[in-house]
Amino acid sequence: MTDRNQELFDRAAQVIPGGVNSPVRAFRAVGGTPRFVQRAQGAYFWDANGQKYIDYIGSWGPMILGHGNPVVLEAVQKAALDGFSFGAPTEREIELAEEILKHVPSMEMVRLVSSGTEAGMSALRLARGATGRSKFIKFEGCYHGHADALLVKAGSGLATFGNPTSAGVPPEVVRDTLVLEYNNIQQLEEAFALHGKELACVMIEPIAGNMNFVRASVPFMTRCRELCTQHGALLVFDEVMSGFRVALGSAQSVYAKAIPGFKPDMTVLGKVIGGGMPLAAFGGPREIMRQLAPTGPVYQAGTLSGNPVATACGLTTLREIAKPGFWDALSARTQSLVDGLTGAAAAAGVPFSGDCQGGMFGFFLLPELPQNYAKVMTSDSPKFNKLFHGLLDGGVYIAPALYEAGFVSAAHTDADIAETVRVAADVFKSL
Ligand code: PMP
Repeated sequence: MTDRNQELFDRAAQVIPGGVNSPVRAFRAVGGTPRFVQRAQGAYFWDANGQKYIDYIGSWGPMILGHGNPVVLEAVQKAALDGFSFGAPTEREIELAEEILKHVPSMEMVRLVSSGTEAGMSALRLARGATGRSKFIKFEGCYHGHADALLVKAGSGLATFGNPTSAGVPPEVVRDTLVLEYNNIQQLEEAFALHGKELACVMIEPIAGNMNFVRASVPFMTRCRELCTQHGALLVFDEVMSGFRVALGSAQSVYAKAIPGFKPDMTVLGKVIGGGMPLAAFGGPREIMRQLAPTGPVYQAGTLSGNPVATACGLTTLREIAKPGFWDALSARTQSLVDGLTGAAAAAGVPFSGDCQGGMFGFFLLPELPQNYAKVMTSDSPKFNKLFHGLLDGGVYIAPALYEAGFVSAAHTDADIAETVRVAADVFKSL
């Protein structure tokens, strides 16, 4: 049989760098041929060979209702008939903004953009503009999009300002990016002691999904909040992945339960709020958001921002996930997947740890959950690659890299979870 995926990948590589439009899709970490998606429905997609997979990527987060949800589809079709893009305001943008603010009350105003990268980049500019400061803290293993100043990963350690992680980012552009270890309170305190009054913000993925799945500990988050408040730096939550994914109130609602009165100063959103269409946002208190053009001096704009079809998709998605019982059911299903995998690994004697919140999960071929990027990277990567391909051959599609989180949708059934655990149990035995 000819492998259509391979044919398409070869053809793609002639006209698109690496054959893909976003690097992780190329299967570089795990090897093998990327699956070219033909169509998707509910919890499944079919590749170019007509092979069916249970999909635990869901477009890397957005597809919380599964693929082709009929209510969302109808809203999108209706919106498309009224026009694709106007470059002039529409009522639906207000509705989406209101819907977002209703569930994430730390934000009083929100600006809609088209990608998480844009949202993170704009939030950083606004934080710098609003505070009049240049330096900021990010954490190793947190991804905030590929804007130059944010593209610094390396745990260069305390008070060592970042080295660019990508060619093409001039060192002077990341001079003010301070990279610290995630969940390391001592480093954070030392960084504030040295640079507190120069810091515009601390940007963090509260439940990190770009080093698999790692939670900021409650004591660490408590200290982030205290130090930011003390030094006049803004606490910026990048909830592009966790927003409306781990809870209706996003990750900040999870921390607010553990830390009385807790809220971030600014929030960055994407993925779920667009329901699979290009849409993202950033928001915060009125006094900060009013610093944005046209009311303030911080410039930010976008031809397709608040796109009418994307807002229809996002708005309908958010209304569906706000329905009673949605989060209990999704959380239970995700938990049953993690429990099932944990049990199957234990039965096969494979070191394993897993965690989840709402519809987002992560697991590691490590006996204990890691607390930072360096620990995540101690995972046995050849073993993970075997697991990945074993699952893929068995019709289960997880992220093709051990440092990515996974996603369960409302369309995943108990039978899908059981089938996934059955396939995984076999693969674990072969590890
Ligand atoms: N922030 C986080 C936390 C993300 O997970 C991502 C994307 N995975 C981004 C920002 C960037 O979003 P986008 O890919 O839409 O530019």
